[in-house]
Amino acid sequence: MTALADLMDYAEVLERYDPVLGLEVHVELSTRTKMFCGCPNLFGGEPNTHVCPTCLGLPGALPVVNGKAVESAIRIGLALNCEIAEWCRFARKNYFYPDMPKNFQTSQYDEPIAFNGYLDVVLDDGEVVRIDIERAHMEEDTGKSLHVGGATGRIHGAEHSLLDYNRAGVPLIEIVTKPIAGMGERAPEVARAYVTALRDLLRAMDVSDVRMDQGSLRCDANVSLMPKGSSEFGTRTETKNVNSLRSVERAVRYEMTRQAAVLAGGGTVTQETRHFQEADGSTSPGRTKETAEDYRYFPEPDLVPIAPSRAWVDQLRETIPEMPWERRKRIQEDWNLTDEELRDLVNTGAAELVAATVDAGAEPGEARSWWVQYLTQQANAREVELSDLPITPAQLARVIALVKSGELTNKLAREVVQGVLAGEGEPDEVVDKRGLKVVSDDSALLTAVDEALAAQPDIADKIRGGKVQAAGAIVGAVMKATKGQADAKRVRELILERVGA
Ligand SMILES: [Zn+2]
Repeated sequence: MTALADLMDYAEVLERYDPVLGLEVHVELSTRTKMFCGCPNLFGGEPNTHVCPTCLGLPGALPVVNGKAVESAIRIGLALNCEIAEWCRFARKNYFYPDMPKNFQTSQYDEPIAFNGYLDVVLDDGEVVRIDIERAHMEEDTGKSLHVGGATGRIHGAEHSLLDYNRAGVPLIEIVTKPIAGMGERAPEVARAYVTALRDLLRAMDVSDVRMDQGSLRCDANVSLMPKGSSEFGTRTETKNVNSLRSVERAVRYEMTRQAAVLAGGGTVTQETRHFQEADGSTSPGRTKETAEDYRYFPEPDLVPIAPSRAWVDQLRETIPEMPWERRKRIQEDWNLTDEELRDLVNTGAAELVAATVDAGAEPGEARSWWVQYLTQQANAREVELSDLPITPAQLARVIALVKSGELTNKLAREVVQGVLAGEGEPDEVVDKRGLKVVSDDSALLTAVDEALAAQPDIADKIRGGKVQAAGAIVGAVMKATKGQADAKRVRELILERVGA
């Protein structure tokens, strides 16, 4: 591992070098089945239970392309302003790896389905940077190796390895940028902002669950440095599978300071893959990087070419949603938010969730308050991203509707949300199972009101004598007796009726 002392001060890096980035993002599509067979595309599961002869690469098994995956690939290409190939093929990328039983990965090489696009990315201060997209191509994921017995979990030092092929053949889209130059000190921020924008977009399109923590969105960050004034790219390193947005920013910054120290010391940067260390934010060497020639790509003979008709492409173009950042701008206008309020909404990761909750029928103010306050607290307590809480905007909208119709009080609503978060089912099921309905039956409430008045006759007298505010104590007693399941407003009305005030 590189010692931290081998880094150059960031300000000095920027005085002497210009960083150039290239970002490769792999997205696992959330199709029902895998890319070339009918196995379920599900995260996790008992090892080697979502497999068949095709995704295990057994002799004689033949692949068939998943139409839904092609549709998602085209939609992603269109959302990234790409041209969509009129005709393209899959290719075999040949290499041996134990978690890839065919000994080749079915991918695309010189004929990607989408190419030549761009994504406009909004930085924290509102500046917009256009990131050019080289290509978005289809491929399949590999299985997973578990290296046992070593200190690092990597193959070096391991005693043996276990293989799980459940992920083998899961549909992937790889999105590759053109070189991103001229960003200077903002390069690490640009990298994070790009992956964030891509994640938001893919989520809005509902093509992937974009969980970086589960590997359904993974970023490889290529970084190189050019001496100031030079226009020739330096040798790059590729930091693999960075698995959080913050780590993308840290990895880029670390590589800039590490490579600068190597170059300034008269050394050369080795073209290699590197691993990112979450603990100290450093990177360490992986394998020396292969070139495309090493993979002996050739067209996949077992699959027919893909030739999407222009009519289909035009039809899919209609399904591209509003870009999340445009939607945010509209939200700000529609909901009359200050820049600061909008920033809070975005920083807590709540903007999309609030918008989706509003789309599902909730009032903006209510939706915002739930996500920004109560649910943000819940997410912090569980140390997860807000969007990873196990409650959907539609479920929250249902809870809000139950409050609005008077079937739940705010207190009961929080209990229902707790139930949904605990995996007890849909809001209505939680209400039934936990018996959380508001007691709206007046006769049941009147019994409780009468009991409370009888228990505190002095207060009943005060109310009768015109001190209406004294009713609060009786309301409290009734709420306690009904375990908070009464509508306080109705209870107050009944008390006043009863004492004739
Ligand atoms: Zn299969």
